[in-house]
Amino acid sequence: MSASTIPARPAPRGLGYHLADYATARASFSWEQARRALTGGNDTRLNISHEAVDRHVLRGNGAWLAARFIDRANRRVDVSYAQLQADCARFANVLTALGIARGSVVATLLGRMPELYTSALGALRAGCVFCPLFFAFGPQPLKTRLILGHAQVLVTTATLYRRKVAPIRAALNELRHVLIIREDPAEPLPEGTVEFAELIRSAADSYQTAATGDSDVALLHFTSGTTGMPKGVTLTHGAVIAQHATSELVLDLNPQEVFWCTADPGWVTGIAYGLIGPLTCGVTLIVDREEFDPQRWYRILAEERVNIWYTAPTAIRMLMKAGLELTAAHEYPSLRLMASVGEPLNAEAVRWGVQAFGQPFHDTWWQTETGAIMIANFPACEVVPGSMGRAVPGIEAVVVRRSAAGGLEVIDSADEVGEIALRPGWPSMFSGYLDNPERYRASFRDGWYLAGDLARRDRDGCFWFIGRADDVIKSAGHLISPFEVESALMQHPAVAQAAVIGIPDAIAGQALKAFVELKNGVPAEEPLRLAILGHARRLLGAAVAPREIAFSSALPRTRSGKIMRRLLRARELGLPEGDLSTLEGPE
Ligand code: ATP
Ligand code: MG
Repeated sequence: MSASTIPARPAPRGLGYHLADYATARASFSWEQARRALTGGNDTRLNISHEAVDRHVLRGNGAWLAARFIDRANRRVDVSYAQLQADCARFANVLTALGIARGSVVATLLGRMPELYTSALGALRAGCVFCPLFFAFGPQPLKTRLILGHAQVLVTTATLYRRKVAPIRAALNELRHVLIIREDPAEPLPEGTVEFAELIRSAADSYQTAATGDSDVALLHFTSGTTGMPKGVTLTHGAVIAQHATSELVLDLNPQEVFWCTADPGWVTGIAYGLIGPLTCGVTLIVDREEFDPQRWYRILAEERVNIWYTAPTAIRMLMKAGLELTAAHEYPSLRLMASVGEPLNAEAVRWGVQAFGQPFHDTWWQTETGAIMIANFPACEVVPGSMGRAVPGIEAVVVRRSAAGGLEVIDSADEVGEIALRPGWPSMFSGYLDNPERYRASFRDGWYLAGDLARRDRDGCFWFIGRADDVIKSAGHLISPFEVESALMQHPAVAQAAVIGIPDAIAGQALKAFVELKNGVPAEEPLRLAILGHARRLLGAAVAPREIAFSSALPRTRSGKIMRRLLRARELGLPEGDLSTLEGPE
């Protein structure tokens, strides 16, 4: 144990942690058993929607609150598990009545409204493939994804349709039905569409769930586009086994606890942990229909008595930037676990959690392709700030190097950086990249799935993120981790966020340039720039410190909140900017 570790908090009274001891849990875990624990038997059928909803209703718990939606005016709409079951059965009946066959793709382009959640669960219930599209996408990225996904049905609102879908409709040959949610009943229904509410009203509220099995495709998610063109990733109904197991082992969810996952359902986290996994555990989901706002978020955490909170580094850094006075406006006695995913979580941010909430953020690592959390800090284990934690029970994770002969070698040393590799065989592993079988095949080698992220693995089995394989920097023969440099910059009191890229250097090959976003109210002045440069040199040494620092008022980020280093690099070097469909910005 090092001086900077943060001890585990005691388990909630009367419940205990799902994972009480890491070694024991790892030794006794099997996916067969996890499947049985979820489904209650050895039936070969498996359907996500059934496991998320019906298992609670069948046990007489239909009155439990499944979700609470909070709108701009702070009005709440509550949906019970029984209600959710009826609503998604209705949508499944609508799809069947429209002649949509099993395996067809049903897409949504919706904000975080109840219809998005019932469409997802209804489509899965009918055996269709559900594809969420992020509501802020413009016409071009929508067109690409709807065509690539061969979507047959789209559910959207009248406003989104008019602005984004109508202009591209003529190109969507395979799209058979557009179902519209009308915000204003007085406005006419757009031509070539049908009204969602009307179809739902006349549909029966029970449905014989499609006889899907573990390997049937259930979900189509597009990746964030951080490293390039977004990929279409398919996950199967079997994913629910891993999403359920990790919801217990990592997020420690229990029935009727209040759980808030802040990720939008347009991305994999918002479906795997904003919908499926937590519902299988019987929790109450908090869904905030509004955009990020520090005061609003603190109020929701306090007033809704959130027990478990799953968020992202960008949001945490923005809360840090907004200042602790805002945190202190409320108390959070119900909040017992905070976790993060999506980007490297700086040690500074983990420790800020202790300052702000009396507890650390628990970093977790996974990808769209893995379908569920693979590496995590567990609530029953001490947290080493800056580390992503250890492999989830049932997951064999290592770091590998490519040998001279071209094969893969597992790295034993705690000092050597390598690529994260996972042994295939976990139930939420992706089943393909849409229309790109070569790329899928190329992700596997020597019996490992290669994740494309670099890390170190220490003697305790903890993983330390280094960077995306595309983002790491080679300078004077050293491999430099942008994450490490960014974390050092963040330790300066004026710095809110930082992004580091490699720029060509005649002697070293590459030198580092840092883009720095300052905390609210701090003026971007030359003496401060020099002070941050000095701070970086002191902490990192001249060889690793950035040669240049530039202030940035807003770092380019994907709509899912990840810093786009490839774009900073392209702009710096005057190269083509590549696919910008997921770049955050005005719609
Ligand atoms: P694309 O594949 O299109 O470039 P993406 O990889 O950002 O986009 P996602 O699947 O949403 O799309 O993100 C997964 C990636 O996010 C991981 O491969 C990793 O690089 C990063 N990531 C996720 N969690 C963590 C974490 N805890 N620490 C560091 N990086 C993380
Ligand atoms: Mg990726």
